[in-house]
Amino acid sequence: MRIFVTGGAGYIGSHTLVQLLGAGHDLCVLDNFSNSSLEALRRVRQLTNRDFALVEADIRDTATLTEAMSGFAPDAVVHFAGLKAVGESGEKPLLYYDNNVTGSANLLAAMDTAGCRRIVFSSSATVYGEAQYLPFDEDHPIAPTNPYGRTKAMVEEMIRDWTAATDGASAALLRYFNPVGAHESGRIGEDPRDIPNNLMPFIAQVAVGRRAKLSVFGDDYETRDGTGERDYIHVVDLAAAHSAALEYCARTEGCEAINVGTGRGITVMEMVAAYEEACGHAIAAEIAPRRPGDVASSYAATAKAARLLNWHAERGVDAMCESSWRWQSTNSEGYGEKA
Ligand code: NAD
Ligand code: UDP
Repeated sequence: MRIFVTGGAGYIGSHTLVQLLGAGHDLCVLDNFSNSSLEALRRVRQLTNRDFALVEADIRDTATLTEAMSGFAPDAVVHFAGLKAVGESGEKPLLYYDNNVTGSANLLAAMDTAGCRRIVFSSSATVYGEAQYLPFDEDHPIAPTNPYGRTKAMVEEMIRDWTAATDGASAALLRYFNPVGAHESGRIGEDPRDIPNNLMPFIAQVAVGRRAKLSVFGDDYETRDGTGERDYIHVVDLAAAHSAALEYCARTEGCEAINVGTGRGITVMEMVAAYEEACGHAIAAEIAPRRPGDVASSYAATAKAARLLNWHAERGVDAMCESSWRWQSTNSEGYGEKA
């Protein structure tokens, strides 16, 4: 397949490129590098021993996007490009609506021009908001609690309308739970620019000595040990879900939202213990107040992914921590320090 990948230089994008190149697909990556580096793509080429087209551009630059897409003539698009910091989305909502929503509208228009009718979109479990029941299945009400989540919900609706209006169109809206870990080589991984907001990269930076200690946001939730519970999904399993979704879109028409998770919750303290095992030393952690907006538990119903995509997560928490540690310990400054 010829696949046009927006945001391919980012964390999930780079791992998916490895998967898709390994499967023999031909790729064109478009990224503005607002939250990623060329180094990640250099390493993807090295790991796979394959090349791909690269366009440095913003998805809001209609002319460049349309020209790149029409020139490449893809069979399908995988759309990762987006801003993803929940806190920042509250401070700069218009930036988020512009980048994520306007950008996605441009992308669909460019697909129309190029005659491309298949898309796999990076949505998020955050579209569900507060759990009315668990596990979250795809019919759970959509009620995001922050602007970032609302951009994802809006783009889902936009893609659903576009699919309905476009003959032969097919879309998979992948609702990721909590992607963590790294490629088993340790050559590519998550490289947050600032202080990490998310648990796993924060633990990794404490483990490698970049930060003094982890603050555990609350130990009085109704969970096994009182700390927050999430459905962490290995990024390599997530990458494989994109391959499966592309194949699904090639054989179907219509638009489906599909959870991508393991179905199993892991608490903050369980993750700390697993990481200590992986890195071989203690991780300093102290209990801190709850983080506003956090929920006690979140985990996925996985039956729809199994049924439609014939995909399920294969890697457990040990592989998540081991691969994260391999990446972090050999690239302590992320891509900033050329390994
Ligand atoms: P990331 O920031 O590492 O990757 C996003 C990529 O998109 C980056 O390379 C960035 O430079 C690029 N980009 C952003 N805006 C762009 C624009 N206007 N034009 C061109 N390129 C642009 O993030 P990630 O963790 O790899 O996430 C990928 C997608 O998955 C995002 O849409 C994100 O919202 C979604 N998602 C991520 C998570 C997570 O926890 N990482 C969870 C659910 C959903
Ligand atoms: N968390 C924590 N300390 C941190 C970052 C996160 O205790 O420095 C907790 C957070 O309260 C939640 C879990 O780890 O229970 C996962 O948080 P993350 O931000 O990674 O994912 P999200 O809350 O967006 O699902």
